[in-house]
Amino acid sequence: MSNIQKGLLLLLLTGIAVIGYNIYLKETTPPPKTYSEFLTSLYDDQIKSVQLKGGHIRYTDTNDKEFGTYSPDISSIVELLIAKGIEIKAEPGTDNNFFGFFKALIPVVLILGGWFLFTRSQTEKSSSFSDKKSSLPIPETGSQVTFEDVAGISEAREELKEVVLFLKEPTKFSRLGGQLPKGVLLQGPPGTGKTLLAKAIAGEASVPFYSMGGSDFVEMFVGVGASRVRELFAEAKKNAPCMVFIDEIDAIGGKRSGGNATGSNDEREQTLNALLVEMDGFSSEETVIVIGATNRPDILDPALLRPGRFDRQVTISLPDFRGRTKILAVHAKKITISPHLDMAAISRSIPGFSGAEIANLVNEAALLAARKGKQQVDMDDFDDAKDKLIMGLARKNVVITEQERRVTAYHEAGHAIVAKLLPETDPVHKITIMPRGRALGLTQQMPVDDRHTYSREYLLNRIKTLLGGRIAEELIFDQLTTGASNDLAGATEIATRLVCEWGMSDVVGPIAHIQDQSDFLGASSSTRPHSEQTAISIDGEIKRIIDDCYEETTGLLKRSNKFLHKLAEVLLINETVDGEEMDIVFHCYLNEKEMERKFKEEKRADNNM
Ligand code: ADP
Ligand code: ZN
Repeated sequence: MSNIQKGLLLLLLTGIAVIGYNIYLKETTPPPKTYSEFLTSLYDDQIKSVQLKGGHIRYTDTNDKEFGTYSPDISSIVELLIAKGIEIKAEPGTDNNFFGFFKALIPVVLILGGWFLFTRSQTEKSSSFSDKKSSLPIPETGSQVTFEDVAGISEAREELKEVVLFLKEPTKFSRLGGQLPKGVLLQGPPGTGKTLLAKAIAGEASVPFYSMGGSDFVEMFVGVGASRVRELFAEAKKNAPCMVFIDEIDAIGGKRSGGNATGSNDEREQTLNALLVEMDGFSSEETVIVIGATNRPDILDPALLRPGRFDRQVTISLPDFRGRTKILAVHAKKITISPHLDMAAISRSIPGFSGAEIANLVNEAALLAARKGKQQVDMDDFDDAKDKLIMGLARKNVVITEQERRVTAYHEAGHAIVAKLLPETDPVHKITIMPRGRALGLTQQMPVDDRHTYSREYLLNRIKTLLGGRIAEELIFDQLTTGASNDLAGATEIATRLVCEWGMSDVVGPIAHIQDQSDFLGASSSTRPHSEQTAISIDGEIKRIIDDCYEETTGLLKRSNKFLHKLAEVLLINETVDGEEMDIVFHCYLNEKEMERKFKEEKRADNNM
């Protein structure tokens, strides 16, 4: 609980006490009368009995109603009361101020008492957290999960097989003094199987598996998270070789900003520091491999990613069509399915589903079928289950419309085809229309080797590749979307640097005009100021370069229109296409073109006869 929460609770308690005290006073204090009203009643013989307490008078009238008042001079009325024969009860003349002081203390005492009890119960709780060993996760031994259970993420699996070997035979690897890796960070969207994969590693290596959620550490009071980390590692080292899995590691490993005003920040920092100390501390004899999982790698403290800590990072993305089909198969094994079930069709109809959502889908379908009294789960059940789940997803805004998918497919195919057909470009490594983050798709190019200098042709073709996405959209759908803004920014930047920095424009000439200082550290002082005239010609050149590239690329894509359609089609089916697959599509397209040409030639020859 943070200090703010404590403060709020204290305020609440005070409020309750004050209100309670006021209610108490209302109930015990009779309605007040003025002294003259009292005297009038007295002279009118309306008073039955009187109770005197210091200067305070409580009196009961003939109707048995009680009232209160205050007398400035008690002794003078006592005589009158005696004369009238009214019953008098007197209590020792308590000092009014003194008594009032105690009354005023009542709420304070109540609050402090309550607070004392409350904090005591809390400290008891928190100390019991650090005392009892049972609060640590019990290691899971003999995990039955194997790599077979994790489908569709073969790249990540290959990378992690090595970790299994380290855990199985640590000494074999450290024999020559090499340091085994200590930490692996699995990053990817929720439900993509990070936890499952960690379990599979422990299962394959048959080592104990300690699992903790990052937020389990931080919920507690200051200092407890850190001591929990130390205990966890002390335990783990005793059972080495073993694996510690920390889910949602961003809960403790987020960037240390210091701007946060809550008390839990302190706690998180201490916990993170304890974790770093532990990871730096253990030697290679104690093979404890820490696997962290996060879906927010961007907010992680860079200290976590340094060598010797989580220096291996494995990215797990949402499964594509083929991945989903495999995951479906893994989960469908657990239920009784109809032999007519078309897995590929189901997989195709659930773009963007994570592994967890697929597992959920299969389960939901089985439940629906059971409710209908069926013997096997069939296509209808999957359709119903899918509708149900997609409705939930639609509320979370993660469903992409069919039109968006189509536009994205042509956009990415546009980039890829320009890169493929033009010389001096980096080969296409992978094209995908799987949404990640805010991007709906992505075309990845891999430089053949590290380039340090770029030719003019390379740069111009890079601009054309960037423009290709937008141009393909324009050609096919005759409309422009906002999806290409990054591409345009990239193309403009290259064109600008071509002219201003690299002196590759004939009009402006080989003179460096640095325009944007933010690109260059301390460039402002060395900036060559240029005249209005030059500025106009620079802008003109940048526009000319972009315009020329736009026109050439439009021509290129128009000519290879069939290739564009083919590639987009394959993308819509498979969602990801790698370099080799793209080559296959390309060859099909070339063959077709060749056949067309031959066909036309024959026709011409026929006509000529
Ligand atoms: P994460 O830790 O990435 O949020 P989990 O590992 O907790 O995801 O996945 C939740 C469940 O989803 C798993 O228990 C499993 O049933 C299913 N699942 C997720 N990814 C896969 C996968 N690649 N293969 C098989 N099942 C998967
Ligand atoms: Zn693009």
